[in-house]
Amino acid sequence: MAETGAFKGGCFCGAVEVEVRGRSVAAGICHCESCRRWHSAPINAWAIWPDASVRVTTGRDQLVEFNKQGSDGPSGRTSCKRCGGAVFNRKPKLGMTVVYAMTLDGSGLPFEPTFHCFYGEGVVQMADGLPKFEDLPARLGGSGKQLDEPSSTGFRR
Ligand SMILES: [Zn+2]
Ligand SMILES: [Zn+2]
Repeated sequence: MAETGAFKGGCFCGAVEVEVRGRSVAAGICHCESCRRWHSAPINAWAIWPDASVRVTTGRDQLVEFNKQGSDGPSGRTSCKRCGGAVFNRKPKLGMTVVYAMTLDGSGLPFEPTFHCFYGEGVVQMADGLPKFEDLPARLGGSGKQLDEPSSTGFRR
């Protein structure tokens, strides 16, 4: 993402507003079981910024954080108390924050995923030509191991 301006997003009800600034460090589609359970969705679209580039501009008092240790360190999954909508996921080990890409939908910031992560534990396969990492790319602390491109898109049987 080459954009350098600020892009505004927020939760489902609008009580929480967030702003991201500049390029995301990475953007992808996560298939991990934690994302599936928390979002109750088969995949999760995300982009990650340095903490300093993510700001809560409205409704900080409406946020609730749930901490869970994951394979990529502790994470603070943060949602809106009022509507339950997922907003972001703090990654203190990395000093970065994942902002769920769809909270920025309509902000003018295009979502441009470059890979799939935790594809090895996923429930859907996607024949979209993007690299499929079993866990994470090496530059993000993963094994870097890639899995084969599937022949079709859909739920795994
Ligand atoms: Zn809300
Ligand atoms: Zn995930």
